[in-house]
Amino acid sequence: MLCKIGDVEVWRILEIHAPFLTTEELFPSAGPDVRAVVEAHVPGCVCAQSGRLILPIQGFLLKTPTHNILVDSCVGNDKTVPRHPDWHKRSDTRFTASLTAAGLDVGDIHYVLCTHLHVDHVGWNTRLEDGRWVPTFPNARYLMPAADEAYQREHSSDLYVESVLPVIEAGQAELVETGHMLGDHVTLMPTPGHTPGHVSIEITSGNRRALITGDAIHTTVQCWHPEWHFKFDADADMAVTSRRRLLESASETGCIVLGSHFALPSLGRVKSDKGAFRWED
Ligand SMILES: [Zn+2]
Repeated sequence: MLCKIGDVEVWRILEIHAPFLTTEELFPSAGPDVRAVVEAHVPGCVCAQSGRLILPIQGFLLKTPTHNILVDSCVGNDKTVPRHPDWHKRSDTRFTASLTAAGLDVGDIHYVLCTHLHVDHVGWNTRLEDGRWVPTFPNARYLMPAADEAYQREHSSDLYVESVLPVIEAGQAELVETGHMLGDHVTLMPTPGHTPGHVSIEITSGNRRALITGDAIHTTVQCWHPEWHFKFDADADMAVTSRRRLLESASETGCIVLGSHFALPSLGRVKSDKGAFRWED
């Protein structure tokens, strides 16, 4: 178990921990010394050979007193992702092994909650069975941001065909608006910008609180530099506004923050500091 928020257990479901793209590619507005700035804040997080940022691809499993909720389902196996060769047509068991380590089987998941519809957050929504895509979690309802579903449907992306549409056709999808509550402990917080319908996840139990960032923020260095644009933000300025708002909320309440792509252990708190924010593991 990663941590406990009141009555809610949080488990890490790790699929990949590897270099992704270079810091210069990922943060195009951060200036020429971006790599040095990142390395100064998070020692060891840039691959010495390639200059690529080392990121976890992970979901978080929430065990509430009544439900098992998977937040984000990583890259998955057999998916079409030619843009990222490391994610293309994978065949790997680490994700399901992480679920087993948390004491659960795919049949035990009640809800799959997608913070947004990008390839590294929806992959295990489905799996190939006899050449057909079927929902990986046979008993789950899948909650997906309606605005992201509309965008991906319009573009007929591989992601939509492989990881979203089969869930809808199986009758297991719920397209949700931000602010949606899932049981007593989990709320979808609007943090648009990275994608149109992006949500971060708020967990509350008793007087304890935690936030799962999703891709509203990608590295703890963006606590100091929330103004840095990220390569894959659909609306970079809106993403900056959402990022600042999320960091303000985290620092004002002193809550636990779980960063979906933050360097492991991806868990800490945010403190307001000199007009920006400081990350504390
Ligand atoms: Zn992501």
